[in-house]
Amino acid sequence: MSKKVAVVTGANKGIGLAIVRELCKAKFTGDVILTARNEKLGNEAVKMLKSEGFEVSYHHLDICDQGSAKQLSNFLQKTYSTILATLAIVIAFENDTFGEQAEVTMRTNFWGTLWVCHALLPLLRPNARVVNVSSFVSKKALDTCSPQLQAKFRDTELSEEELCLLMGQFVIAAQQGNHQAQGWPSTAYGTTKIGVTVLSRIQAHFLTKTRAADGILLNACCPGWVRTDMAGSKAPKSPEEGAQTPTYLALLPDGMKEPHGQFVWDKTVQEW
Ligand code: NDP
Repeated sequence: MSKKVAVVTGANKGIGLAIVRELCKAKFTGDVILTARNEKLGNEAVKMLKSEGFEVSYHHLDICDQGSAKQLSNFLQKTYSTILATLAIVIAFENDTFGEQAEVTMRTNFWGTLWVCHALLPLLRPNARVVNVSSFVSKKALDTCSPQLQAKFRDTELSEEELCLLMGQFVIAAQQGNHQAQGWPSTAYGTTKIGVTVLSRIQAHFLTKTRAADGILLNACCPGWVRTDMAGSKAPKSPEEGAQTPTYLALLPDGMKEPHGQFVWDKTVQEW
């Protein structure tokens, strides 16, 4: 059997970079691949980690580009036949009008996560671990949705297609300026992260149904409020501290049955 491999997305800086470093420090027994959409920034991050004594390689991945996800998938398949992946989806958002913000943020946070998962989940080996980085803001946003939307997002029978439709409906409502009247929260970022948390539960159920014997664990997590370019300098946690929960989930030992399909914060399963 070929080597294990850990793949971290959006890893040229912030929490993604810290996750790569923590995996190396934990002496992950396989290759660690740092991916980034910007080749120069990705290679600079790899160079820095190498200067710290860690063995890491770079591969390009723009999570908003399905072709790029496919190229990574082909590379992994060729190099590792199938993969035991630790996949941390690490993403950012931009500001504009609320409708534009909703579209751009949804594209990266929700659709990007979905596309990368579609490209890489079929490659997972038994005992693989998948970690989608969501946010505590997803739970806050859920609590401000209308009762009808809350019921949908808590419904364990909700399908991936239905979730995709809901995320699309939010963007249209945001563009039309009537999202609040339709029961949506006033945060685009929070709504996209509801999508990431619920998608993770749906994907975990799918893996349980289709690969029950393989012991794969897939979870969403919150890193906490972390000092990065996205969150600013006032946040209480360092990137290293923010990487603790994602790394813990990525390194859950073989044979564990839980957590799976959960939303985890400070290494603790949260109520959804
Ligand atoms: P940073 O802004 O420090 O890093 C974001 C990373 O995502 C960068 O490497 C960025 O690359 C990359 N990225 C953005 N778009 C894409 C794309 N299309 N394809 C590939 N990579 C992309 O943010 P954080 O480290 O703070 O955030 C990481 C994750 O943690 C996010 O999902 C965020 O929502 C989540 N989170 C963060 C919290 C915090 O307090 N910091 C709190 C809760 C959740 P580039 O340099 O090229 O822009």
